[in-house]
Amino acid sequence: MVNQSLNSARITKLSQIDYEWLIQIALKLNLSNSIDYIYELVVFESAKMLHADRVSLFLIDTATNEIYTQLAMGLEGKEIRLPFGRGVAGTVAFTGQVINIEDATLDPRPVRNYYGYIAKTILAVPLKLNGSTIIGVVQALNKADGPFNERDERVLEILCSLAGVALERANSIHEKEALHEKIIYQAQHDLETGLPNRALLVEQLSTDLEEAKRRQQELAVLLIDLDRFKLINDSLGHEMGDTLLKQVAHRIKTSVRMNDLVTRLGGDEFMIVLSKIKNRQDVGKVAQNLLKAIQRPFYVDGAELFITGSIGISIYPGLGKTVNELMRQADNAMYRVKAQGKNNYQFFAEEMSSIEVRRLSLVTQLHKALEYEELMPFYQPQLNLQTGKLVGMEALLRWKHRELGRISPAEFIPLAEETGLIVPIGNWVLNEACKQAKKWQLAGYSPVRMSINVSAVQFTRNDFVSVVKEALHVSQVNPGCIELELTEGLLLQDIQGAAAKLKELKKLGVYIAIDDFGTGYSSLRYLKQLPIDTLKIDQSFIRDMRIHDPAKGKDKALVEAIIMLGHTLSMHIIAEGVELQEQLDFLRECKCEEIQGFIYCKPIPATDVEKFMAPGGEGEKLSASLLASPTAYAGEI
Ligand code: C2E
Ligand code: MG
Ligand code: MG
Repeated sequence: MVNQSLNSARITKLSQIDYEWLIQIALKLNLSNSIDYIYELVVFESAKMLHADRVSLFLIDTATNEIYTQLAMGLEGKEIRLPFGRGVAGTVAFTGQVINIEDATLDPRPVRNYYGYIAKTILAVPLKLNGSTIIGVVQALNKADGPFNERDERVLEILCSLAGVALERANSIHEKEALHEKIIYQAQHDLETGLPNRALLVEQLSTDLEEAKRRQQELAVLLIDLDRFKLINDSLGHEMGDTLLKQVAHRIKTSVRMNDLVTRLGGDEFMIVLSKIKNRQDVGKVAQNLLKAIQRPFYVDGAELFITGSIGISIYPGLGKTVNELMRQADNAMYRVKAQGKNNYQFFAEEMSSIEVRRLSLVTQLHKALEYEELMPFYQPQLNLQTGKLVGMEALLRWKHRELGRISPAEFIPLAEETGLIVPIGNWVLNEACKQAKKWQLAGYSPVRMSINVSAVQFTRNDFVSVVKEALHVSQVNPGCIELELTEGLLLQDIQGAAAKLKELKKLGVYIAIDDFGTGYSSLRYLKQLPIDTLKIDQSFIRDMRIHDPAKGKDKALVEAIIMLGHTLSMHIIAEGVELQEQLDFLRECKCEEIQGFIYCKPIPATDVEKFMAPGGEGEKLSASLLASPTAYAGEI
């Protein structure tokens, strides 16, 4: 009998023993969900039932269009590969028909020499899933012992169909398990970096903490926040930012021990749990290694990027007893590092003063202020003392925290500067103020100048000119209406660099003012080298200026000198912090062009400015009354 195909109508009687045997196998298959066990059962049971020397199980490799031995008796550690459709097994895999060869030496098909074993008789039966999809072939070989008969074919066919059903079930269980595992994995991991996420961290840290308590061991929680990552992200784009984060994640992971838990909390924050630590010094060393690893240059898309990190550390047992406390303390310590210049690490310490604690909590809150829309620019009108007209306004940022209430810029601007947060925040103000100026122009208010504060941190960044350009472009505001306020200290640090940058800004058409003039170097000689349009006399001079107080006469003289010198340098002068009529009158007398101060108007929201600016509004009335009386102090100057 050569190459006989079975058809479903053919019925071969099996013996009672065969049936019992097959039922036994069916039960075993039914009990197992292990695919490997099913393969083993098919191969070894069929060898026994068919009295075969060798049995091989081939599977189809759809990627290479081959069949290969998944499991083969006598071929341990070796593999046979055949092209799909070639040889006996390959043909069965291709046609799905049983092949039973009585004498292989007479068969035209190439019959393989199985590593020295040359078969005489061969029986090959397809292995099908669902009774239809061929996934492989079970092939029995014999050297002598006579050909395989119909009973053998039937037995192997039944065995294969039982295995097919078992495999089908095992596969679906595996798929479900795999899917389940995938869902759990996704819920517990950050897919960008492959690191565990906050959810898994909290779960794992709780377990570790319980264990540390039970075994009286120490545990450390390290929070790493990359310094100025947002700037990289904003300036180079999110794709590069993401690639950088992946590389940072890898560096962090490879800088600690295998069983230390490295997680990503989101954004550029990573949290590491070191369990079973010996002492603080060891933790410090780990932190140092991490900082060093992060400092090494990264290569992203051909660009060399440098970044640093700030690490806050909390230790159990210490001040923190719960997962939340430990995480919060690490966070606090990290912000402390940021406030003290970044690129360092620090342990959370009890001795933090209440001022420091407030500062730290403000920094934490400030991170979220933009996102929570708690920030808003107010505008303070400026008055021309000669014409009585509202000529400009200064955008002054306000922060109203949802719980803490109003927080003064004098408190949060320095914090924002220390942490670098002033860059995104300042850029946001710049854009908002430009848009607002344009809105007022379009609404028909006579064009006024919009003064915008620029922090040193913003100004020194390479992209500052393009940030301004972009804000002008987006808002479509006339650049001649925009004035940038810078502080003198900043400009005098690197006068050449500042001069070059200011020139570029001037090319865009904007004006430049020196804010808080008189509080820094007070060096008009240096400032002469810079293209400056306006001097804003610091309010401390104005505040202390009491015309009738001889002790303050010096301030009066100084203010007068500043105004005169400014004029000789063709600069425009504005005095800040004017609260009293006598101050206003004095300034007017000294030919100070403009004033800004509570006497005229406090910083107010945009909608109130509109009422103030409207014809016949509060502004007009005020300026009329403020400038009504001629100065009585001319003689004293
Ligand atoms: P600054 O630029 O010198 O702003 C003037 C400050 O004087 C403002 O304080 C204003 O409210 C206050 N002021 C105006 N008139 C009077 C007055 O008659 N009497 C008194 N006592 N004060 C007056 P503010 O709004 O608290 O801002 C403080 C500082 O915070 C600003 O000083 C500026 O350096 C900074 N700042 C505010 N907004 C921003 C911003 O958007 N970006 C940057 N980089 N800094 C800002
Ligand atoms: Mg200012
Ligand atoms: Mg000022």
